[in-house]
Amino acid sequence: MERVAELDAWRAVGRDLAARFAPRAAHWDRERVYCHENVAEMTEAGVMGMTLPTQYGGKGASFAAAAAVVEELGRACTLSARIAVEANMGGIAAVMAYGSEAQKRLAADLVLAGDKPAICITEPDAGSAATEMTTTARRDGGGWVLNGAKHWITGGGVSKLHLIFAKAVSETGQPLGIGGFLVVRDPDAGIEPEGFRITGRERTMGLCGMPEARLEFEDLRIPADMALEPPGGFARGFAALMSAYNFDHARDYLLTREQFGRPLAEFQGLQWMLAEMDAKLHAARLMLMDAAASRGPEGRFPDMAVAARAKLFATQAAIAVVNDALQMHGARGYGADTPLERMYRDVRMFTIGGGTAEVLRTQVAGAALGIRTPQTRDGYAPRAAE
Ligand code: FAD
Repeated sequence: MERVAELDAWRAVGRDLAARFAPRAAHWDRERVYCHENVAEMTEAGVMGMTLPTQYGGKGASFAAAAAVVEELGRACTLSARIAVEANMGGIAAVMAYGSEAQKRLAADLVLAGDKPAICITEPDAGSAATEMTTTARRDGGGWVLNGAKHWITGGGVSKLHLIFAKAVSETGQPLGIGGFLVVRDPDAGIEPEGFRITGRERTMGLCGMPEARLEFEDLRIPADMALEPPGGFARGFAALMSAYNFDHARDYLLTREQFGRPLAEFQGLQWMLAEMDAKLHAARLMLMDAAASRGPEGRFPDMAVAARAKLFATQAAIAVVNDALQMHGARGYGADTPLERMYRDVRMFTIGGGTAEVLRTQVAGAALGIRTPQTRDGYAPRAAE
């Protein structure tokens, strides 16, 4: 009961913000600018860092509550929804799970003040095969020295906290495994680490207000207390996504638009399309709640396979539903007077960023079959139980 009340209360917060964000959603897309105003309102409403524990100043809200807020925001402004995701999951969740006390406080303070942390993993030659990254962190006296390059870093240029993944090597060059390194960059506050450069920004198809940046590190010095070395390697944060982007637009349009002297809602072909959309959204919502719940009260992250399954389904459902909604609007859907063309562009990245649909299928299949599914030439490992 308490849980239902929590979800309802947070959903109302999300709905309220969404109503204010909807009229300006097209602006961020058109001008390709980050929505600082929305972030300030989300900070004020307690959405930024809502899932952080209360002892760090957060609201201690559940992932399910965050998913409800993200869903509501996503109806109006995908950009804001995405920021809300990354201010609660992914990089920040990793720091809260594996960081030292000081690192947790640093990260929590930044996020609660409105920062959307950047997680820096992908490199030009290491995408799905992230472990093939070549960025290195060499142990050097009391700290680490980072060299390498990353690309497609969401928030690069606006984010303050960066969680950078690199191959750690000892002073003598011995490989130590992949670790995370925290770097704060905040030019407005005069914090510009030497050896940390933002070298470019991608021109994206959608979510145009969010910078996707190229970063370079040249002898970037990182103090020892900014290294994050999770036990047993880093578990990627759950990239939540809600899929109720524009089902409402489609439903309302079918009820009002008339052709052949009847509302579109009376044509069975469109009714069936809407029914499929409804079923996909409902299933996606249930799977996301299932994944959020799999985190458990003591858990750090949702169960990997449950989260992979939810992301796989919800991202594909989101793209299909947006596409069908656009189709139902005819030429109006294709034009810029409805938000559908923007949403269509926005949503397309979700089967790529944060783990592609193909890689997720491999994870889900591995869990279903109970086998390990390494993708390197060495081939498949024997059954886990053997
Ligand atoms: P590749 O790995 O080259 O894959 C190309 C195609 O081959 C894909 O369809 C892929 O699914 C498929 N493929 C690859 N291996 C297999 C396999 N074994 N079996 C079947 N199919 C396979 N990265 C970050 O580190 N931080 C970020 O903040 C971030 N934000 C992003 C935001 C956006 C909008 C986008 C588009 C990407 C972002 N990324 C980010 C990068 C993202 O994580 C990578 O794009 C993704 O991991 C895929 O890597 P790649 O693009 O190099 O494609």
